[in-house]
Amino acid sequence: MFWRRRPSDPAWEGSTGPDVDPTREGADPVEAAAPPDTADHADGPTIQPVASAERPEPGPDLRDGVARSRGGFVARLRGLFASGEDESTWEGIEETLIAGDVGAALAMRIVERARARRDPAGGQAAVRAELAALLLARDPAWEPQRTRDGGPAVILVVGVNGTGKTTTIGKLASRYRAEGRSVIVAAADTFRAAATEQLGAWAARAGATMIAHAPGADPGAVVYDALDAAVARGVDLVIADTAGRLHTRSYLMDELAKVRRVIDRRLPGAAPEVLFVLDATTGQNGLAQAAAFNAAVGLTGIVLTKLDSTAKGGIVFAIEDALRVPVRFVGLGEGVADLIPFDPAAFVAALFD
Ligand code: GDP
Repeated sequence: MFWRRRPSDPAWEGSTGPDVDPTREGADPVEAAAPPDTADHADGPTIQPVASAERPEPGPDLRDGVARSRGGFVARLRGLFASGEDESTWEGIEETLIAGDVGAALAMRIVERARARRDPAGGQAAVRAELAALLLARDPAWEPQRTRDGGPAVILVVGVNGTGKTTTIGKLASRYRAEGRSVIVAAADTFRAAATEQLGAWAARAGATMIAHAPGADPGAVVYDALDAAVARGVDLVIADTAGRLHTRSYLMDELAKVRRVIDRRLPGAAPEVLFVLDATTGQNGLAQAAAFNAAVGLTGIVLTKLDSTAKGGIVFAIEDALRVPVRFVGLGEGVADLIPFDPAAFVAALFD
């Protein structure tokens, strides 16, 4: 549940919410429902006050999380090498990599390079090394950065419907709250009232504030208000949800680009993180989605969700190779703690060791 800000509302006693111009108070969010793109900024924001954060559960084990992939395509690779290393073995390796969602062209490249290595440790070690080499080098200390003049760090979360965006935002909000950062989540998925409620539940659990408008409101206006609130209160991090959209709908991609421009306008010089949430079970189709989102808004990172639910974890290699954008987090379950930073070396070890 979220609350509309009313100065007389006892729910606001002690709240540190931003000052909101009372003249911008609109109707009740549900009653004010309007078709997308027609509502304007005058529908003032609703602000869910901060609840005390739940104590975070211990995170999942990466090895457990990728057990299906280890027992799936990686176990098949091992099996093939166990019975020799001739021409047919390498054909089988290529097929297995393709079945593991590495993609046909990349699978061929990996096999060619692995064979050319003539690795004294054997074909399996060569394939492992080639897979590891596909993953981008990254700074393990990476984190979203505040602007130079003390503005908030910003994460814009984008992706196709049902990939796990809302869940990921909840997990991220909990993670950063547990680290002691203040967090505002912006409910810029204004297509569905249920999306705001779902996000509100995650925010309350994390101890984050949520800024929301009436259903149907302009998502850019929600993000703008969230940034305003964050600046006014010195909040560390804003995480913006967006409506799931098909990458083939150009007007929806344009809307996303507009939200992105709102951030640039409100926080000039900010370098927002644009995280693309990819469902690992969608396979190679996810690559086309990612490429379209990258073209529209410029992705800075990928969150690969549902890695626990697939035996085809090869998509990790394919996406980093195709986009040259790092996977920042992987989702290994539905719980609040089931999101861990992606560590390439640990990932390869969890698959092979
Ligand atoms: P959205 O439409 O993109 O916001 O997707 P949701 O956040 O509502 O998630 C869709 C479904 O995926 C929900 O049932 C989530 O619990 C589930 N989900 C999200 N992330 C993960 C994950 O890492 N692993 C698993 N197994 N399920 C996940």
